[in-house]
Amino acid sequence: MGTGTLNIDLAALVANWQALNDKSGPGVETAAVVKADAYGLGAGKVARALQQVGVKQFFVAVAEEGAALRQDIGPDPVINVFSGHMAGDSDMLHDLALTPMLNSIEQMTRHFEALPGHRFGVQLDTGMNRLGLEPAEWAAARAIVMAQNPVMLISHLACADMPNHPMNARQLSTFHDMTDGLSVPRSLAATGGIMLGAEYHFELTRPGIGLYGGAPFDEAEPVVRLSLPVVQTRDVAKGETVGYAGGWTADDPSVIATLAAGYADGLIRAMGNQAVLFADDTPCPLVGRVSMDLLTVDITHLTRVPSHLDILCPLQTVDDLAKVAGTIGYEILTSLGPRYQRRYLGQG
Ligand SMILES: *Cc1c(COP(=O)(O)O)cnc(C)c1O
Repeated sequence: MGTGTLNIDLAALVANWQALNDKSGPGVETAAVVKADAYGLGAGKVARALQQVGVKQFFVAVAEEGAALRQDIGPDPVINVFSGHMAGDSDMLHDLALTPMLNSIEQMTRHFEALPGHRFGVQLDTGMNRLGLEPAEWAAARAIVMAQNPVMLISHLACADMPNHPMNARQLSTFHDMTDGLSVPRSLAATGGIMLGAEYHFELTRPGIGLYGGAPFDEAEPVVRLSLPVVQTRDVAKGETVGYAGGWTADDPSVIATLAAGYADGLIRAMGNQAVLFADDTPCPLVGRVSMDLLTVDITHLTRVPSHLDILCPLQTVDDLAKVAGTIGYEILTSLGPRYQRRYLGQG
């Protein structure tokens, strides 16, 4: 087979959700964020696996994602939409029973006019300055909005992956100021917020990255293994170069394996000459530049040519690979391209 294989361990994913659910504490509901096709791993498969262990609420970024997810998981689970009620969304929100998190007075006007009585939540801006109503807007609109019975009030932390950052406590305090005394379920914590402790949890937590094995949930079980097939190998003499721009020079006679994946598959070009791949447990350095469809790897020290090498595995997590690519685990996951064969293990 000419393409890489992305193995997705649904049992590990479920274990991560259960661990985050335990951390969220008794009486707190734990939802699951499956936006961007469940961070590139397949929203339908991921959501169905989580549904089987009792997840009742999912979050997506846009209504289109919610519409697709509804086909996969049936009518019962709640599907919440972070970007709210955009122009042109009304039919989709109605027909597929999606719950928009309304972000502005404009969205509220649109929602109450187009879909009176339809479920909605409200997103509040407690300091991130990205989505949601600002404190002054909320103060002005609050009585009218509360009369329409929102199902949830949410906000999002900007610095939750830095536990000592003063922004966390500031946002928590602002969220209290904006919502205390309103008898509506509240949600502030994503993965990082769950780690910050019980005062950040309110009635509902909504982890994403931690489910998929990423920081800041350090105890996460790895969910993905990415195996890339060896297309061919060659002997390279001392002094010869490998790849575009002669990006790597052999200091000694070397054996170079060419693998079938490149930056078009989400293997970010900045990791050239820095990442390693694994033949079982043996690290093999990536040499030269990452091409669109190919990688070149030094396997001189191996005793036999493997059929494939792993670039993501328990020995090199999405966060490890992100570090050498100068990015974050979220971007590594969501960049994983459509050419890989996705294989689901464990459940689902
Ligand atoms: C993406 C997102 C989440 C999930 O965040 P993670 O860091 O992946 O756990 C939660 N809430 C909002 C508003 C988001 O945009």
